[in-house]
Amino acid sequence: MLKGIGTTKSVGIGKALVVKTIEVEAKRHQITDVKAEIACFIDIRERFVNETLKLIDELKDRLGDSNKDVLVLKNQVYLAKDTFFEAEVKKRIEEQQMCVEAAIEEVSAIYTDLFSSMDNDDMKQRISDVSDMKNRMLMIHRNEEDIDLKHLPHNTVIVTKQLHPSMTARLDIANVAGIVSEKGGETSHAAILARALQIPAVLCVSDFADKVKNTDLIIVDGTTGEVFINPSNETIDVYEAKKAKLEKENLELKKYIDRDTVTLDGRKVLLAANIGSSREASWAMDAGAEGVGLFRTEFLFMNGVDIPSEEEQFNEYRKAAILLKGKTLTIRTLDIGGDKDIPYMGLVKEINPFLGYRAIRFCLDRIDIFTTQLRAILRASAFGKIRIMIPLVTCVDEIIQVREIISGIMKELDNEGIAYDKDIKVGIMIETPAAAVMADVLAKHADFFSIGTNDLIQYTVAVDRGNENVSYLYSVFNPSVLRLIKHVIDSGHKENIEVGMCGEAAANPCMIPLLIDMGLDEFSVSSGMILKVRKEIASWSFKETNILTKKALQLTTAKEVSEYLSGQINKEIRNR
Ligand code: PEP
Ligand code: MG
Repeated sequence: MLKGIGTTKSVGIGKALVVKTIEVEAKRHQITDVKAEIACFIDIRERFVNETLKLIDELKDRLGDSNKDVLVLKNQVYLAKDTFFEAEVKKRIEEQQMCVEAAIEEVSAIYTDLFSSMDNDDMKQRISDVSDMKNRMLMIHRNEEDIDLKHLPHNTVIVTKQLHPSMTARLDIANVAGIVSEKGGETSHAAILARALQIPAVLCVSDFADKVKNTDLIIVDGTTGEVFINPSNETIDVYEAKKAKLEKENLELKKYIDRDTVTLDGRKVLLAANIGSSREASWAMDAGAEGVGLFRTEFLFMNGVDIPSEEEQFNEYRKAAILLKGKTLTIRTLDIGGDKDIPYMGLVKEINPFLGYRAIRFCLDRIDIFTTQLRAILRASAFGKIRIMIPLVTCVDEIIQVREIISGIMKELDNEGIAYDKDIKVGIMIETPAAAVMADVLAKHADFFSIGTNDLIQYTVAVDRGNENVSYLYSVFNPSVLRLIKHVIDSGHKENIEVGMCGEAAANPCMIPLLIDMGLDEFSVSSGMILKVRKEIASWSFKETNILTKKALQLTTAKEVSEYLSGQINKEIRNR
């Protein structure tokens, strides 16, 4: 048995296909026709960008537009289009009569050196993007086809030294039983994609590829990081059983597809989905969602090359509203900035982007963009049950301003004779401690609240949500966060408005009993989590959650709370 880093919660058993991902080396020669060589570079880059955009589109079909993992491949497009990359390649061709392959290789090496010297894991992961891009550009130049990963024999385990993101994206997933790679960590882009595609994968298994021959039988345990080559029959039996158990659990969940979301003792809550496009609205409905609690509209802006027009946005929102067939569609207005950049908008890089020009702050400054979006949402509201939700609110003035803008647009629409929902609800996300503390006041101005724990945690405990070095502090179980959540729910209810949660914590099995007890009205989670959360909610009685919550709220550290809750939910006495 060999050990690596397991990156998925699944087991795969199948026949090895060893994919040699060697670095493609440039064929070097002196050129004479500089113009032709530069034209050749432009052509290679264009073909590379088109090929990558096609891969991204295929990935979106499988994963959805709002899946941030899809953006991993977009890095390669940005890299190829980077003006520095172009200038440096051209410089070498013009000044040194270097051939295009050598120029691409040399400039790629500059990026590799730059990323390796950075003291940041995310940046280090980009080395594999650079090597993937360089290899593919050289292959495009030679008109060589990459190994065909789109047509694989049934139950193939891909064995490779380095799993490149583009490889993962090209896989014929229906026939891939697993992936084993010598390099790459849990946060590598290839691992992120493997997880998103739900392929059992173990990475970082030293000297593995040379030990394996094609058609060797391989077991890949993504849950523990264990890998076996030609295991004994007993071992195969053990892992077949483990695989079957995991698959059975998934099948079990299917029973919850058409059920209401109710606790063991009959208290009903609403279970909605988080989506990023109308395509995902249809997936959410198929997954058993009872509405949409968060439509992240920034993906409409991030996936394109320009600001989407009112018409484009209207069509997208209307489509989602119609697909929901009368169920509530909560559309969040543009939330960019922070970790979400939109390159074509040319936002100035800030020292503290999470504390800067983002979300509602951006929208209230760029009234043109905001008005276009609100007009599109209002027009779409004539086709379904739409709510408007404002992100990153920190004070009452912001919601008052938004309401004034909306009133203005409504008057315009009235004058133009355009239909919209005159009673459309306007709510806010509670994502900042300022909003949480002032929830009693904000509740008088908002029609509903939705707690965005992803941001609320980072602002409350002062931890950048993407910073690995301080991630140990990033916990929803921090008593300060729990108190804020309780205060927000209580404050909303005092003013008779509904309170939901659309941050990741809404799907956390340890948080679910606390949220039930606190009276959360709506849980909004990713489509893939709908059935798990419904099952989890169904396993709790209100009485039980009350005992648990009382105790949890008396504890003083995140560790104590989390240990207490996980201990309790694992107790077999619970009726599951
Ligand atoms: C949140 O902050 O919890 C949230 C749902 O918003 P996002 O993750 O898009 O910032
Ligand atoms: Mg947020």
